[in-house]
Amino acid sequence: MTDTSSLQAALAHHGLTRRDFLKFCSALTTLLALPGNAAAQIAASLWRKPKPPVVYLEFQDCAGCTESLLRSPSPTIAQIVLSDVSLNYHETIMAAAGKQAEEAKQQTIREGGYLLMVEGSIPVGTRAACCIGGRSAVDLLKEAAAKAAAIVSVGNCACFGNIPAADPNPTGAVGVWDVVSGVSIVNMAGCPPNPANLAALVAHFITFRDLPKMDNLNRPLFAYGGRIHDYCERRAHFDAGRYVEAWGDEGHRLGWCLYKMGCKGPATFHNCPSIRWNLATSWPVGAGHGCVGCSEIRFWDRMTPFYERLPEAAVIHTKVDLNSIAKWMAVASAAGVAGHAVGSSIRGKLRSRDERKKQQGETREK
Ligand code: SF4
Ligand code: SF4
Repeated sequence: MTDTSSLQAALAHHGLTRRDFLKFCSALTTLLALPGNAAAQIAASLWRKPKPPVVYLEFQDCAGCTESLLRSPSPTIAQIVLSDVSLNYHETIMAAAGKQAEEAKQQTIREGGYLLMVEGSIPVGTRAACCIGGRSAVDLLKEAAAKAAAIVSVGNCACFGNIPAADPNPTGAVGVWDVVSGVSIVNMAGCPPNPANLAALVAHFITFRDLPKMDNLNRPLFAYGGRIHDYCERRAHFDAGRYVEAWGDEGHRLGWCLYKMGCKGPATFHNCPSIRWNLATSWPVGAGHGCVGCSEIRFWDRMTPFYERLPEAAVIHTKVDLNSIAKWMAVASAAGVAGHAVGSSIRGKLRSRDERKKQQGETREK
């Protein structure tokens, strides 16, 4: 059984050396966009400081975020930081059940100062969904949030409601930040979020006892500060007007731009092109599928149909049109709402749907 008392012991258990660990800290420093000398500080903190206890709650979800965080052909240091140390309560993976599990959670809550991670949307429209022991999801979340040092919403469902909140949103699903106030909340958006980003966030919290800089959707800038389109390996093809026109055509085989196949990379902020997935081997656009905008708010309603191009960029294939997009982005950035203003380019098309959702939201609040 893994000794979870220290990171040192957990690394040794998995056959990882201190050298591996230092390389990991160096990579984290780069990912977090911190100065190089911060690597030593992160290493010292992760190595010596006790990890903050973590309570991990799940509400309306598919457990895909947990799968993404923990599944791998071999354990990475990121996963060890996330899973083997200090995870006091996690409904999907903990061995304890029933009263024993509940007592572990209650004890952690009594002591306070833990990191609360939440996966899944919160059904505020019905008490029945996610009810445990006669207590609603809202009760359980508020109880756990009260003494948390900070809350991490893991995945788009916990951040913004996501698929459970998609029109017509039968359970009144919302994100954690719609229910909880008075505690710092960071939104690790994505469907699922990338485990390397989550590990970097936890490392930042352990080292500095603070959350990193965030955008206006509470997403950390180190992971969501750049637009997919600006770092995409197919970007040169976009600029040159070389587009995939049909799945499996010559352009697809040659790695051309997927914009006409519905890629939402021009409206999505996430570091997927650089951090990549599956032990950094590839990422969705690299593998030949367009980005569906999974780190954006209400992407399930606003980025669909997934295989149709973004309406306002419908005629892009010349320098002139690209310039107009650049101006469009500049205006959005100046307004401080870059990602969402670009995302809102499709709002006109879906306005009636959004208005219906807004009305539903107002109805719920009354
Ligand atoms: S539209 Fe998509 S595939 Fe094309 S360059 Fe932008 S992000 Fe890459
Ligand atoms: S490429 Fe787009 S859809 Fe895919 S994981 Fe990244 S943000 Fe989500």
